[in-house]
Amino acid sequence: MAAPTILAFGSAEMQQRYLRPLFACTEIWCQLFSEPGAGSDLAGVATRAVPDGDEWVVDGQKVWTSGAHNADFAILPARTDTSVPKHAGMTYFVVDMTDPGVEVRPLRQITGEAEFNEVFLSGVRVHDRNRVGAVGEGWKVATTTLNNERVAIGAGNDREAGQIGLVTERWRTDPSVRTPGTHTELMRWWVETEVTRLAGERLRQGLEAGQPGPESSAMKLAFAQQAQQVSGFALELAPEEGLTYHDWTMVRPEGGSFLGHGPGYRYLRAKGNSIEGGTSEIMRNVIAERVLGLPPDHRPDKGIAFKDVPR
Ligand SMILES: Cc1cc2nc3c(=O)[nH]c(=O)nc-3n(C[C@H](O)[C@H](O)[C@H](O)COP(=O)(O)OP(=O)(O)OC[C@H]3O[C@@H](n4cnc5c(N)ncnc54)[C@H](O)[C@@H]3O)c2cc1C
Repeated sequence: MAAPTILAFGSAEMQQRYLRPLFACTEIWCQLFSEPGAGSDLAGVATRAVPDGDEWVVDGQKVWTSGAHNADFAILPARTDTSVPKHAGMTYFVVDMTDPGVEVRPLRQITGEAEFNEVFLSGVRVHDRNRVGAVGEGWKVATTTLNNERVAIGAGNDREAGQIGLVTERWRTDPSVRTPGTHTELMRWWVETEVTRLAGERLRQGLEAGQPGPESSAMKLAFAQQAQQVSGFALELAPEEGLTYHDWTMVRPEGGSFLGHGPGYRYLRAKGNSIEGGTSEIMRNVIAERVLGLPPDHRPDKGIAFKDVPR
């Protein structure tokens, strides 16, 4: 998500410095977007960046930051002008997560793990050369990140990768789960996930010609629905395993894969799929407005300076 954004908006110096280690995973990144008062309404971020010579001083709080505890760098949209409407007053930065002003605290989730964090930014200094895009254009830059995130979450798997592969394998190897009813359900999910996978593949190939557009939201929406339904179906095939749970110890997972976990874990973790990277309701709004051209959602703060919007 950071790499295509830096590729599209970062300076040549920034691309030279960050892209290769990011691609090679020798430097880990996280996404400092959501805040206690700005999740779905991301353009409402209140974390502020104030210029000070060649640097910016950043103060604020972020939340739900996956992997912040392992991250070397972060992408951060921050408020740089409160006198204009919210979308116009943001600027996008790269932040060094080892700065002494960055404090990371774990947040425990329904699986028992703490995959994400709250992050407090207190007087964090960011050099102006780590600004991505022009001052005030942070929303445009952030949209590029979000569209890429939705492709990353929803697309690019091999056939039978993920949840559907696990239940199909169970079907193949365990005759006790085979009934006409489960057969019908398995076939339905197999076909739906395969159609979504192929649509995602087409979207990915289109990326070679440029940045993804709002149609990535449809991919992410379909992926989340299917992950939740298929993980529920997996519990139906293995109810006794679903009722037990491997471990409730709070752990800090290093990677994002659920494949090594049992069906109970996968069922619980899939709940987050319709929230992370934008909720399913917001995906439907994006599809309605930006793909189908339907009338926009109600926006009471439209055209009002950020400082005048009640918070
Ligand atoms: C597993 C996981 C990992 C995450 N990782 C990160 C991360 O690394 N970095 C990061 O920045 N964030 C991360 N997030 C946060 C995620 O992006 C937000 O949770 C999400 O955008 C929703 O914001 P919110 O939680 O503030 O909910 P809210 O925006 O408060 O929404 C609450 C409810 O209201 C609904 N709603 C809100 N506005 C509308 C509307 N206009 N129309 C219809 N319904 C609406 C929502 O759909 C939702 O059901 C992660 C979340 C999860 C679950």
